[in-house]
Amino acid sequence: MTARENDRTQHKETEEHFFKSNAVKMIHEMSKLSREIQEDSRSALIDEMLHSIFFLGKILKDFSPEDIIADKEMLENLNTYYPRPFRCYQTHFPRRSPFSCVLDMIVLHKNPENEEQIKQSLQRFARGLDPEYLVSSTICISQKSKTDQNSKRYYGVSMSTKGPNTGQIVIAASCLNNWHEYVSGAVMTYYPEMDKKNYFDGTIKVPKNIRCEAFDIRSGNKKDPCRSCHNLFGLNTEQIKEWDYGNCAEAESLSNLLKNEEEVKKKTNVNKYSAENRKKAEKEVHDNLMDVLKRNRDKNTQRKGFEKHLKIYNPESE
Ligand SMILES: [Zn+2]
Repeated sequence: MTARENDRTQHKETEEHFFKSNAVKMIHEMSKLSREIQEDSRSALIDEMLHSIFFLGKILKDFSPEDIIADKEMLENLNTYYPRPFRCYQTHFPRRSPFSCVLDMIVLHKNPENEEQIKQSLQRFARGLDPEYLVSSTICISQKSKTDQNSKRYYGVSMSTKGPNTGQIVIAASCLNNWHEYVSGAVMTYYPEMDKKNYFDGTIKVPKNIRCEAFDIRSGNKKDPCRSCHNLFGLNTEQIKEWDYGNCAEAESLSNLLKNEEEVKKKTNVNKYSAENRKKAEKEVHDNLMDVLKRNRDKNTQRKGFEKHLKIYNPESE
């Protein structure tokens, strides 16, 4: 083996190690948090996170759940309590990233109004992980009013995916199945490219008086919206950097705000488009997603296993 091949093998092993160790730490954290709270939704969150980790493990590293979780007892326990993620990770794709499920669990654990505690808890947890895999870098908090500190807080994290095409896969899945129609309409205006579509413009302008503020999870520093978020949602910014459309924490946070605050929804300015063109944009997102998955499947003959027609994974339904 040449020195370069040796380096590459070592690099691959290190990456695989970090993926697995982050996944296992996330599972431990979620189990610990869920034991400390009562809400019914906690087991659905673990279920959804497991499915999302298994799916991404398969896509990124061709891992099976057994490859990811080396501890036999842990594996058996998970399989007993959460059998569906084991059955469905090659037949269904996730609605969102696993880290987004961790965020929801922390918010349940700390209560939505305790923003500082939520940020600290997330920071402590993220600092214990390798930053490359499955971890989001940014958290965003939205409220219906900048001035009313007591208005309800809605959280979101950025896409926590590394590796070719995985960001695109999770953004498409969120667009088609998770985000509020205004947010997905805005993202689909661009997705999967950085250019606006010529037949569909679903970009929006959220009301000026709402709060939509992002922070770096590890450092806690405030982050101004990027140029893409300005183009998508009309957020004010001086930044010129465009990230992938739909990648930022603002998308999830604003989607949660719009799903729950009728007043914000009413005051949001939405570009006019025909139902037919929206359907066309949705089909394009869907077809692109299938292409990405197919390319991934074809890339490595060992990476077989995904079904041709994936369904969306819903943790609550059998
Ligand atoms: Zn952005």
